[in-house]
Amino acid sequence: MMTRKTKRITPLVMVVDDDHAVRLLARETLETSGYAVWDTESGEHALTVFEERSPDLVLLDVMMPGLDGFTVCSAIRKTITGRDTPVLMMTGLDDLDSIDSAYQAGATDFITKPINWHILPYRVSYMLRASGMLEQLRESREGLAHAQSLAHIGSWEWDLSSGDIRCSEEVYNLCCLDGGKFGNPILDPVHHLDRGFVENSIEQAIAQRSPVSFDYRILLSESVERTLHAEVATVLDEAGDTVCLTGTIQDITERKRAEEQIRLLAYYDALTGLPNRRFFMQQLEQALVYANRNDRMLAVLFLDLDRFKLVNDTMGHGVGDRLLQDVADRLLGCVRKNDCLSRAEQDGPVSLVSRLGGDEFTIMLCDIEHFQDVAKVARRILEAVSHPYSLEGQEVFVSTSIGISLYPYDACTASDLIRNADGAMYQAKEQGRNGYQIYDESMNAKALERIILESQLHKALKDEEFIVYYQPQVASDTGTVVGIEALVRWNSKELGMVEPGRFLPLAEEIGLIIQIDQWVMRQACRQLRAWLDAGIPPFTLAVNISGQHFMKNELLEHVTAILDETGIDPGLLELELTEGVLMAHTERTVKTLIALKRMGVRLAIDDFGTGFSSLSYLKRFPLDVLKIDRTFIKDITTDPDDAAITLATIEMAHTLKLEVIAEGVETPEQLEFLVRHRCEHYQGYLFSLPVPPEDVPRFFPRR
Ligand code: C2E
Ligand code: CA
Ligand code: CA
Repeated sequence: MMTRKTKRITPLVMVVDDDHAVRLLARETLETSGYAVWDTESGEHALTVFEERSPDLVLLDVMMPGLDGFTVCSAIRKTITGRDTPVLMMTGLDDLDSIDSAYQAGATDFITKPINWHILPYRVSYMLRASGMLEQLRESREGLAHAQSLAHIGSWEWDLSSGDIRCSEEVYNLCCLDGGKFGNPILDPVHHLDRGFVENSIEQAIAQRSPVSFDYRILLSESVERTLHAEVATVLDEAGDTVCLTGTIQDITERKRAEEQIRLLAYYDALTGLPNRRFFMQQLEQALVYANRNDRMLAVLFLDLDRFKLVNDTMGHGVGDRLLQDVADRLLGCVRKNDCLSRAEQDGPVSLVSRLGGDEFTIMLCDIEHFQDVAKVARRILEAVSHPYSLEGQEVFVSTSIGISLYPYDACTASDLIRNADGAMYQAKEQGRNGYQIYDESMNAKALERIILESQLHKALKDEEFIVYYQPQVASDTGTVVGIEALVRWNSKELGMVEPGRFLPLAEEIGLIIQIDQWVMRQACRQLRAWLDAGIPPFTLAVNISGQHFMKNELLEHVTAILDETGIDPGLLELELTEGVLMAHTERTVKTLIALKRMGVRLAIDDFGTGFSSLSYLKRFPLDVLKIDRTFIKDITTDPDDAAITLATIEMAHTLKLEVIAEGVETPEQLEFLVRHRCEHYQGYLFSLPVPPEDVPRFFPRR
């Protein structure tokens, strides 16, 4: 604690000397110079009144009967008020021992007898000034310490060369440290999670020779954590290197807590703990900036519980609140958290779930690659929310309707996205609740088609909306059907008949193509089985194989299984591969082809001429058939270049022992050209469009 002396206008000098004459002269001189004087002949007496009088200076004789000057001086130093009071000892001239003892006893200065009375007042005033400064210093230091302890600020000094750390009392108080017990009172209490960060910050201050400030946590006990704010400054030597650090630490735990409280109140919904509208808007705006910069898609889902009002009205608000909390938890379980520690089942776009108010929730999904990912989340939510809730011993059922808007298709600002999602949510409700609806008014046709296709395509497989059409492959000279190519069609309930060119690239992109290929192969083989059983003479069935399907290890297995299942002779199955497939991963490709070949399956290269492969390159693959792409056939009778290429292709193919099929033959002139140049087979509208299975038998003469 601080001790405070009341300031006197006239300084009081206590004169202690058994010599009456000295006391008299001292009083005379000092009083004339403006000092107050109190004197006594005895050391004992001086001590008994010292604290009460509290003089500003003591003029003390060394040699006295009873207590001598040294003893009196030491005793004064032990009192609270006398710790810093200037004591001027009167010693004998040349009495070096006394001078030394006076120093040991804590005297401030000495003056030799006989005393020069002219000088004495000056001596006294010099000493008082010095002591005044000392006192001011001490007071300001005490004041500082007091202020620091009030503000919970501790200060420290760290000598980097010696490693010594000096700390103010408050540092120990703040960190609940027993002074001296700790190796490093600054670093030791730091929370282990912040340790590295604190060390780095300090190292940064040293290296950059500049002040740093940072907040960190300390651990007082296993569970008590406090937050400190540190200001660290550097002290440099002449060379400009950091030799010492000085710093303050301040306990800002309460402030942090208050800030956090304010943040919670301002940004979170008190009932569910979810972010509120304000927070959601802020985050959405930020996410939009990111999405715009990185050309990403972003979705806003707007959810409204179906029939929530009924629960609230019939079961009370308490139950309603519990229900909202449970729904909030389930929503969080349906989306990937905004961190990288998400569990596998929470995969999908990065997200933020918020409660707008009432029974309305919004979810933002960022970084979307395919609309399908959004649809997946929406379906997951519909499913999760619709499970029964057990509230107050009762099972409660609710469902939700979801409206979805997409950036950049539907809107580009946070509020427009939310508004459009809200609009779509109403549509979803109108369509019977417990469903999701995409906002589509402003969507441009292409993006919309893609999104619709994508959402429908998954359903198509499950609902068996695909069918296979068949196009005959004909012998050019005799017109006999020698083979049939299976071509997939999508007869969508929603979209009508969809051409492969419209949905296959998308299926490839979203990984559905393999399933489609497999389905087509199985379906076509079953159909062939049926035709053969009905007495139609055997012919080659050509099936298209996508690159992805070909690269799949199960291709062989799959072909074997289908052939076994349908009892089709492998020699009747022809797989059509494209150049791209053959060009990639040559070694593995060759192995697969050889294995297929061993089974007896026929292999064709499709769309030949559109890729980069040369005929000589084809030598390394065990192929049976080459199909000349229809872009060459289209102009063979008018464009000499196409004619020449087709001609050369046919000849080269024959030298490689490959059969040739010309694709896309539409006119008799084209056919005539092909016959003339010994192209043995053709396919095209001239003979027939691809047809549904029931139209196939008519290609074969009845026996
Ligand atoms: P592709 O393998 O070249 O099949 C021949 C395409 O040419 C078919 O188109 C057929 O209808 C069309 N075509 C036939 N004759 C003529 C003609 O004289 N003139 C014109 N302009 N076109 C003719 P489609 O059925 O639309 O199929 C397009 C492509 O989709 C196919 O080209 C094939 O690459 C792919 N595809 C079809 N079904 C499947 C399948 O089950 N799996 C895989 N992976 N791809 C398939
Ligand atoms: Ca084909
Ligand atoms: Ca083709």
